[in-house]
Amino acid sequence: MKIGVLALQGDFDAHRLRLEQLGADVVLVRKPEQLDGVDGLVIPGGESGTFLNLLGEAGFEKLRQFVHAKPTFGTCAGAILLAKVVENPKQAGLGALDITIRRNAYGRQIDSSIRTGQLLNEAHQSSPLEMVFIRAPKIEGLGSGVEVLATERKDPVAVRQGNVMAATFHPELTEDTRIHQLFLKMLK
Ligand code: GLN
Repeated sequence: MKIGVLALQGDFDAHRLRLEQLGADVVLVRKPEQLDGVDGLVIPGGESGTFLNLLGEAGFEKLRQFVHAKPTFGTCAGAILLAKVVENPKQAGLGALDITIRRNAYGRQIDSSIRTGQLLNEAHQSSPLEMVFIRAPKIEGLGSGVEVLATERKDPVAVRQGNVMAATFHPELTEDTRIHQLFLKMLK
């Protein structure tokens, strides 16, 4: 089982390290063709508009087909790319998650912060989880098929629909491995 980490820009290496630490076989995906050789994908944080530019039309289409077929996990800019509707400003989304997401939604003053949110388990019990937000987006609308995996105050900050999941924070930047473990569990 090979897991790709999209390595066009952003903090892909932190994801690689975390996944390897959890025993996964990781490939850095620098060219869309490499998607043919992986069973799952992580789309890291970075700048979602830059990802779109670097992918180009053909790369976007290749990625769109992948995320509609195989397990994918997006963080921050990766979550923005996976969304159906993107605001502030509007931009194309891959449509793998039926969510509306607003870029840079926390404004300048708290544009980056570490906060404690809640991770929900299958029985809907919650446990605290440290979350790093960096110019984070906010999930403003959730389709009926979307499950909330974690919250921060009243906001959903990690979600899943089918075999696609996303977090608006950066689980690769804290010690807690539970979010990546959830993704690896989806691959089995
Ligand atoms: N603000 C970025 C965007 O809109 C996301 C920031 C991040 O990935 N840390 O794409």
